[in-house]
Amino acid sequence: MSRYKDEQCRICRREGQKLFLKGSRCYTDKCSVTRRNYAPGQHGQKKTKLSEYGTQLREKQKTKSFYGVGEKQFRRYFEMASNKKGITGEELLQILESRLDNVVYRLGYGSSRAQARQLVNHGLFEVNGHKVDIPSYLVKAGDVIAVRESKKDVSIIKQNVEQNASRPVPEWLEKDSEKLSGKVIRLASREDVDIPVEEHLIVELYSK
Ligand code: SF4
Repeated sequence: MSRYKDEQCRICRREGQKLFLKGSRCYTDKCSVTRRNYAPGQHGQKKTKLSEYGTQLREKQKTKSFYGVGEKQFRRYFEMASNKKGITGEELLQILESRLDNVVYRLGYGSSRAQARQLVNHGLFEVNGHKVDIPSYLVKAGDVIAVRESKKDVSIIKQNVEQNASRPVPEWLEKDSEKLSGKVIRLASREDVDIPVEEHLIVELYSK
């Protein structure tokens, strides 16, 4: 059996970067990228030069994996971003950051984006006092995201709050650990996005 049977860690190793797909393990020295920063598979340690198209494609795949978004939806976000007035790549990242599952993760109520997505799906969160169970829901400035009153004692939430207490919350969000909530102060700007991505490559790929 392969030593690297874990699909999520394989994605990070293929991209050569930590994409934080597995929760608390990503922040420890058990992280597969920390231990073996080369692509998985028999020829993983060989250096191969990517074509222009290959480089653009990898950048898109990496960003999709980071946010856990499928091709169709990612494409839709790109169309939305293209129709906005700002720089398309930056608008795209802002849309991705505005997803409710990402916000739940950023606030530390989910250990990973994948888990945050599951928790949102299971109806644990509300936005401005209304239950929202759609992970792709896009938050707006001023929105208040909170664990629903009836779900505050759910063990996974308690565990996440404890485990992620020291994880920094981005400046565009304000966390209230007492109320198990968070407020969107403003939408994320390019500087707030910590994924090492060259978004212009994604724009170039889709503009072909
Ligand atoms: Fe695995 Fe997380 Fe490390 Fe990625 S960042 S290789 S998902 S432990």
